[in-house]
Amino acid sequence: MTSPAERVATEFAETFGGKPEGRWWAPGRVNLIGEHTDYNDGFVLPLALEQGVAAAARPTGDPVLRVRSVQQEGTVDVALSDIAPGVVSGWSAYVSGVAWALREAGHEVPGLDVVVDGDIPSGAGLSSSAALECAVAVAWNELAGLGLSRHDLAAVTQRAENDVVGAPTGGMDQMASLFGRAGHLVFLDMRTLEAEEVPFDLAAAGLALVVVDTQAPHAHVDGEYAERRRSCERAAEILGVPALRDVTVDALDAALTRLGDGAEAGLLRKRVRHIVTENARVLAVVAALRAGDDLRTIGPTLTASHASMRDDFEITVPEVDTAVQAVLDAGAHGARMTGGGFGGCVLALVEADAVEAVVRAVEAAYAAAGFRAPSAFVAVAADGARRL
Ligand code: ADP
Ligand code: MG
Repeated sequence: MTSPAERVATEFAETFGGKPEGRWWAPGRVNLIGEHTDYNDGFVLPLALEQGVAAAARPTGDPVLRVRSVQQEGTVDVALSDIAPGVVSGWSAYVSGVAWALREAGHEVPGLDVVVDGDIPSGAGLSSSAALECAVAVAWNELAGLGLSRHDLAAVTQRAENDVVGAPTGGMDQMASLFGRAGHLVFLDMRTLEAEEVPFDLAAAGLALVVVDTQAPHAHVDGEYAERRRSCERAAEILGVPALRDVTVDALDAALTRLGDGAEAGLLRKRVRHIVTENARVLAVVAALRAGDDLRTIGPTLTASHASMRDDFEITVPEVDTAVQAVLDAGAHGARMTGGGFGGCVLALVEADAVEAVVRAVEAAYAAAGFRAPSAFVAVAADGARRL
């Protein structure tokens, strides 16, 4: 089977005729730990995947975006000046949103003929959306000679997703796609936007990171995500801090007391406890990796993150909890849901020679529970967005 990077120029020729000016690539990501902490100004620890989105593009004389996706029907044709929040919709909004955000930031962008082709399951929590945005953003950046930094591109692509697509996501996905590095995790401080590469050599440790796509149907994801975000903002307001990042583990009990009693306060206490402890878990994992500890020792922290998402942040679903329990029972060192939640993927840190047994354990648990069969792959940390 050919890869998107290999196919995309041929697809371009079939769609628009002739050759593209170039091909660009941006990866999806899997987040090792740090969930829903990004929009709380906190810490995340993703890695960029080998899977992603390829874009073959050529600037045009007219200010029009023509975009085709190999994964979708038809070619979308939109004048750059017509792109605005609330006006464009569907998958092409991730692409046209980038043009809009670049223009909003004061950059001149040419019209573009572009074909995109990806190999990340979409909507599975592996950030196919950020890969799509970033592949197109690095193409436009180069074709228009804008010279934007990865930080600039992260801001532009996040704005595209927030304002034009209308998804209130934090900036982790785009930063992971832009800053990824082979063999490394990307440790991000989402307040300062500092990005640090942390070596993550699973193979040398005899380990593998298995990602299980639970195939759980997403329901009410956007509404639930927005609700979690609002709860965090409300709690920060009550606590008198700019963001929940500012509440440390040591100050957690006092903060929880301050939130008070009653149903609403009870909910906010749980949300706060997840964010505060999750930030501490990210820092603990980074400290262990920097110290060169055996990678197996981070397993329990991954599993604790899952319990926190399940019990306090309440963003897991039965398929996800079943997969985590199955891989732990099969001997995984640690496991957790990864991504925004309500379905999506589970990751498991396992001995390299136990990958098959762990995947089979999930399949058996799913068959017993009557769930749709899961799929799985071994995640490998790859480089971030670039020209091919
Ligand atoms: P995730 O980012 O976790 O995969 P999202 O819901 O954020 O899930 O983004 C998925 C959406 O991104 C898809 O519904 C589609 O609109 C768009 N998308 C992703 N990959 C592609 C692609 N290769 N071609 C066209 N649209 C895509
Ligand atoms: Mg996404």
